[in-house]
Amino acid sequence: MISRMPRPYILAETNWKTVSSTEYDVAILPWGATEAHNYHLPYATDVMECDAVAAESARRAWEAGAKVIVLPTVPFGVNTGQLDIELCLNMNPSTQAALLGDLVSALEGQGIHKLVVLNGHGGNDFKQMIRELQPTTEVFLCSLNWYTCVDPAPYFDEPGDHAGELETSVMQHIAPDLVLPLSEAGDGSQRKPSIAGLRERWVWAPRPWTRVSRDTGTGNPAHATPERGERFFEAVVARISGFLVELAATDMDTLYD
Ligand SMILES: [Zn+2]
Repeated sequence: MISRMPRPYILAETNWKTVSSTEYDVAILPWGATEAHNYHLPYATDVMECDAVAAESARRAWEAGAKVIVLPTVPFGVNTGQLDIELCLNMNPSTQAALLGDLVSALEGQGIHKLVVLNGHGGNDFKQMIRELQPTTEVFLCSLNWYTCVDPAPYFDEPGDHAGELETSVMQHIAPDLVLPLSEAGDGSQRKPSIAGLRERWVWAPRPWTRVSRDTGTGNPAHATPERGERFFEAVVARISGFLVELAATDMDTLYD
C-alpha cells in the first residue's frame, strides 16, 4: 500500500470531515491546457505545472495560517490555433466563461468569497471573463499567470514561450521522469510574420501554430536545467504564497482604504 497523508489545502485529497470544520477564505482554481509541447514535454505540462505551483504556494500559505483550498485543475485551455495538431483539446473562451461562472456561483453560495484563477497556459485569458462576471457576484475574483508573476529574465538565457527553456526547466524540476532527453527536442524556432506590426508584436493576432512552428514549440529548450527550474519555481511560489496570505487576511471592503 502506498501511504499518503491528505493535504488539507488540496480539495481533491481532503474530505468532508476536514471541510465541514474548516472556514476557507480563498479558493484557488488552477487552469491549464492539454496540448503538444515540442517533442519532449508531456501533453499535460500546463496542468502539472499548475498543480505543482498551486500546491506548493497553498502549502506555504496554509502553514502561515491562511485558509486556502486548491480546487481541481481545469485541464482544458483555449487552443483554437492548434486545432490541426492531433489531440490538442481546445476549450473555447465562451465555454471557459460558463464553467468559471458555475464554479463561482457554487463557491458564493457556500460562503467562500475570494477566488484566484491561477493560469498556466498562454492561450487562456481570464481578464475579460472576470470583468463580466465580477458585477454579478460577491466573490472577489482575480487571476495571475504563474509564469509571468516573476520576471524570468534573470533565471534563464532565453525563457522562451511555449515548451522553451523556462517550461522545460520547470518540468525537469517537478516531473523529471516525464521529460524526454533534450536531444529528442526540436529547437522551438518560429517563423516570423511578413507584416512589420505583427512581427514587432505591437499588433496582435492569434498564431496558426503549425505554420509558425515545426515541432509545436516556440522557444529553445536547449539550455534548460532542473536547477534553473527549481530556482524559478521557488521564486514563483514564494511570491504567490505571499499574495495568498495577504488576500486571506484582507477584508475586501477595506481593500482601497
Ligand atoms: Zn505549456
